[in-house]
Amino acid sequence: MRIVIVGNGVAGMEAALTVRRREPTWEVTLISEESDHFFSRTALMWVFSGQMSHRDIEPLERDAYERLGFRRVRARATGIDTVGRQVSLAGGAEPVPYDRLLIAAGSRPRPGPWPGSDARGVGHFVTLQDLDWYEREVHGGASRGGAPPRADAHVRATADDSPYRFREVAAERHGRLARQPSVIGGGLVGIEAVEVAVAAGLRPYFFIREEWFWPIALDPRESRWISDQMGQHGVEVHLEHEIEALETDSGGNVSGVRTNQGRYPSDCVVIAIGVMPNTGWLAGSAIELDERGGIAVDEELQTSAPGVFAAGDCASVRWFDGTRRPEQLWYTARDQGRVAGLRLLGDTPRYDRGTWYNSAKLMDIEYTTAGLVNWNLEREQNWYFEEQGRVRSTTRVVVQDGHVVGFNMLGRRWDHTVLIRWIEERRSLDWVLGHLNEAAFDTELVPPLRVTRA
Ligand SMILES: Cc1cc2nc3c(=O)[nH]c(=O)nc-3n(C[C@H](O)[C@H](O)[C@H](O)COP(=O)(O)OP(=O)(O)OC[C@H]3O[C@@H](n4cnc5c(N)ncnc54)[C@H](O)[C@@H]3O)c2cc1C
Repeated sequence: MRIVIVGNGVAGMEAALTVRRREPTWEVTLISEESDHFFSRTALMWVFSGQMSHRDIEPLERDAYERLGFRRVRARATGIDTVGRQVSLAGGAEPVPYDRLLIAAGSRPRPGPWPGSDARGVGHFVTLQDLDWYEREVHGGASRGGAPPRADAHVRATADDSPYRFREVAAERHGRLARQPSVIGGGLVGIEAVEVAVAAGLRPYFFIREEWFWPIALDPRESRWISDQMGQHGVEVHLEHEIEALETDSGGNVSGVRTNQGRYPSDCVVIAIGVMPNTGWLAGSAIELDERGGIAVDEELQTSAPGVFAAGDCASVRWFDGTRRPEQLWYTARDQGRVAGLRLLGDTPRYDRGTWYNSAKLMDIEYTTAGLVNWNLEREQNWYFEEQGRVRSTTRVVVQDGHVVGFNMLGRRWDHTVLIRWIEERRSLDWVLGHLNEAAFDTELVPPLRVTRA
C-alpha cells in the first residue's frame, strides 16, 4: 500500500504517525515544499525573538523519517491526477504514485489588496520563509541557532506565487535594518508580529480596521486592556484605520503606510489580514473546493475523489452549526490528522468538531477561551467581572437560554477541559460561579479569584 501525504505540518505528520503505528511496512511518503522537518508553526515567534532555535520548535527528533521509514520528498506539488493516481511535482521531478492520498497543505497568508502590497520590505508572518524574511529585515539574519531555512536547496523549484518563496529584503538594499515596522491586521498573527518587533526593541505601528483589537474574540473592555498593554510596550495602536496604499521609494522599497487618517513612515510592513486555504496548486485537479477555496470533505474527511482525503487548515469541515468551512487551528489540525490517518488505514472514523477552545498569550496576558463567545450576539448574555488587585484579570461567562455556553478569560490561567465539561453539562451561571476555582490552572502562588456576584 502506497500512502502519500502532501504536507508535513501537524495534520500531515499526525496522519503519518497514525498509519505507521499500525502498519510498519506500508510505504509512507511525505511531500513538503516548506521544510525538511515538521515544526510547530505556533512557535515561530519564539524563534524570531531568539528564545528558541529552529531545532527547538521541531516536535520530533531529526532522525524520525529514517527511524519510522517515511520517505521525504522536498518539493512543490503542482497537481493531482485522480484517475492515474499520482501527484505531480514542480521542476520536472518524477510524479509520486499513490494508492491513498492525504492533502494537508495548510493555509497561506491572505495577500494585501492595496497598491504597494508586493513592494520590497512587505511580507507576512505565517511560513518559515516569512520568518526568514522578517528576521532579515529586523535582525539582519537568523536571531538564534539552526540554519535559517533559506539555506535549503529546494528554493529552486518554488513558484513566484508560493507562500514558501523567499522574499527580497528592503533592509539589505538600504544597508540598514528596519527600525519602524508596521503591522496591518488585528488578529492573533498580527499581535504576534507586533510582539516580536517589541522584543527586538522596536516601537511598531499596529493598524486595525475595526473599533477594537480582535473583535471576533474579545469584547471592547477586554480589548482595551490588551491595547493599553501594547501601548505600555511602545506599540502605537491605530484603531479604525483603513489602509489606502503602501508607499514606496524610488528603489521599490516600502517607505510608508497611507491610511484614511494619515501617512506613517515605515521601512517594513507585515500584512496579517488572515489566512486562506493553500489550495491554489489544485486548480485543474478534479478535487472539489468550496467558495472559500477549502477542500470539500465529508464527515470522514473524504474529498470528491476516490482514495483522496484532506485534513487541517486546508479542509472545509462541518461545524457544529451545520456550516462548512476550514478550522484554522493547531489542535483541530492535529485531531483531523489523526482521523485522516485512520481513513488512510481503511477505517471509517468520523471527525466530530467538539466544543471550541483555544488559549494564547496576548502580550504578557494569559488568554483562555472555550465554547461560544461573540457567536450569537443577539442571544448571548455576558456575565463580566474585572479584578485589579495583586492579579489583574477579566472573567466573562456567556449564558444562553439559561445555561453557560462559553468562557472568555484574560489574565489568569484556566483548565479548558473543566470549562468545556461545564458547557457540555449545561451548567447554570450560578453553579459555574460557585465552582469557578475548580478550573483554575494558576500556580499555588497566585491567590484564587474571588468574584463578586453583582
Ligand atoms: C504565527 C502563527 C501563530 C499561530 N498560533 C496559533 C495558536 O496559538 N493556536 C492555534 O490553535 N493555532 C495557531 N496558529 C494556526 C496553526 O499553526 C495552524 O492551524 C496549523 O499549523 C495548521 O496545520 P496544518 O498541518 O493544517 O498545515 P501547515 O502547518 O500549514 O502545513 C502545511 C504543509 O503543507 C505543505 N505544502 C503546502 N502546499 C504544498 C505544495 N503545493 N507542495 C508541497 N507541500 C505543500 C507545506 O510544506 C507544509 O508542510 C498559528 C498560525 C500562525 C501562522
